[in-house]
Amino acid sequence: AAKTGKARFRRYSVELDDRAGEEARLGAEMRAALDNGQFHLVYQPIVSLPEGELRYVETLIRWTHPARGFVSPAEFVPVAERNGLIVELGEWILRTACCQFMAWQASHGAAAPCRISVNVSARQLAEPGFAAVVADALTGCGMPADQLIVEVTETAVFGGGVALRAVEELHELGVKIALDDFGTGHSSLTLLQIVPVDVLKVDKSFVDNITEAGRHAVIATALIQVSDGLGLTAVAEGVETAEQAASLFELGYRYAQGYHFGRPVAQPTFHDEGVAA
Ligand code: C2E
Ligand code: CA
Ligand code: CA
Ligand code: CA
Repeated sequence: AAKTGKARFRRYSVELDDRAGEEARLGAEMRAALDNGQFHLVYQPIVSLPEGELRYVETLIRWTHPARGFVSPAEFVPVAERNGLIVELGEWILRTACCQFMAWQASHGAAAPCRISVNVSARQLAEPGFAAVVADALTGCGMPADQLIVEVTETAVFGGGVALRAVEELHELGVKIALDDFGTGHSSLTLLQIVPVDVLKVDKSFVDNITEAGRHAVIATALIQVSDGLGLTAVAEGVETAEQAASLFELGYRYAQGYHFGRPVAQPTFHDEGVAA
């Protein structure tokens, strides 16, 4: 039997209350987690094709909660964006990643990755003075600006305004700009005319099924042509098999990231350390 509108509405609002309550709890726990050192960073290799040699690393945040255990960033980063904690958390990520990068440079020299990327959320970009925060993080550990890549999503910069200006300021500082999940936004190609971009991170959805000659391969080909034509660096995301890597190389891709080459880890395997287990 169909529920009355009223009953349905009540159940719906109870669910909303639950969700709001859970979100508030998670938010408060994240605040504590930041103070208690429960967050840590992992780094995923971005390699050259076809050799699969380490070139860059992408910084990814991890949270191990004492009771909840592993909490996915796909779950908690959006909460931190909504409650604003991402501003402080993001600054910690940025400073920690830059200093880690410089420590690897000091200990491994040319065998260390030559660039590091950090994900930056829309909320961070919209915060006035974000470029100055980045500049301060760089000088804080003596890192050259052009060794940092800031990964922004298409939606974060689409609105223009403060976020777009922040990206322009970063670019003027010499920081490299990567468009993350490229191709999944509503105006990917338009953005290339507006935003100063250095790196296109071609979304995993275009890499999946790339080995079957079909739509995915056609689109992946178009994207590498755009990237090459504009003098950008394309990175194929989410490469899970040797076959995908081979297809990407054949299509002209020279950089890749994915479980096939390495999962996110506390410390990547450097050139001078032999082959990963
Ligand atoms: P993203 O920036 O697109 O990061 C790539 C995600 O894909 C990571 O998930 C990574 O572990 C995963 N991945 C890499 N290779 C493969 C693969 O071959 N197969 C599959 N299935 N997945 C792969 P993760 O670490 O869970 O992060 C999820 C999202 O959370 C990120 O997507 C990003 O949007 C956000 N995020 C993670 N760390 C940070 C951070 O430090 N700051 C901000 N603002 N957002 C972050
Ligand atoms: Ca990313
Ligand atoms: Ca991505
Ligand atoms: Ca993503």
